[in-house]
Amino acid sequence: MSLFVGFDIGGTSIKHMLIDSSYTVLHTGSFETLGPGGPDEALDTMTKIVHAYEDQEKQKVQSVGIGCTGPVDIHTGTIQNPYTLPGFEGKSLKERLIPSLGIPVLVENDANTAHVGEIHYCGITQENTMMITFGTGVGVSLRMQGELFRTPGGVHPEIGHMTVSISSPGQCYCSRTNCFEHVMSGTAINAYASATYGMTPEAILEGEDREKATEFLDRMVTATTDAISSLAMIFASEVVILGGGMHQFIGKYILPHVQQRLNAMLPVYGKTTLVEARYGALSGSYGAAVMAAQTIQNL
Ligand SMILES: [Zn+2]
Repeated sequence: MSLFVGFDIGGTSIKHMLIDSSYTVLHTGSFETLGPGGPDEALDTMTKIVHAYEDQEKQKVQSVGIGCTGPVDIHTGTIQNPYTLPGFEGKSLKERLIPSLGIPVLVENDANTAHVGEIHYCGITQENTMMITFGTGVGVSLRMQGELFRTPGGVHPEIGHMTVSISSPGQCYCSRTNCFEHVMSGTAINAYASATYGMTPEAILEGEDREKATEFLDRMVTATTDAISSLAMIFASEVVILGGGMHQFIGKYILPHVQQRLNAMLPVYGKTTLVEARYGALSGSYGAAVMAAQTIQNL
């Protein structure tokens, strides 16, 4: 059995996972993303973790996969986004980690790793699928005929900035006001609930004031239906997985209403089934490890 490690670099923690060549999970763990030593300390800790797994299993790890918030250059392994991973921007994870590990390192957008993780964990057989991660931002990963969709140069498309028919106060960091992410990221949902109603999203939706709850729910359902219907129509997505740190909130309050609206749309929008992510916070590190294994197995 060969061994593979997956990392998921998030804004607050870095999750790690050891799997074998049958994709069975052997160990998992996590540590704080930005300790006193900043990103350099985090990268040193990642190297130490791989070596610790090797000592524990008395066997070399064959390759490492890393998922992190986009945009990320998959060829150089460079993180380009200063907004969600401050201090990491411009750093090539490959340049830093390959010399100390001596094995292949794959760097991917975290929506892609979560998508691959869910596909394998849930045994999803459809080949045209989409994953949307709702968290600090909104990430979208598209898979067509079993292959992840990429833009020229291997860059992950920043679909979170697609336009929806709802806008939020202030500007998205991309300069617009009606980006999907600017309405539906956890940050945006919490900020809107607090500024408009002075309450948490859950308190509004569960509250006695049904008019307020309906109004708040409608803007989220409309924005999500706009995004999913447009994407599913273009990319013929059969299954859409809704995940990320907010997946329980999205699964409970938003998913059923969006599914209902999609079902009522004309056939031109296709028949799309929405599912809530099942591996939750671990799908990113699992997908990164699976992709690391596939890189070696395809050689
Ligand atoms: Zn934007």
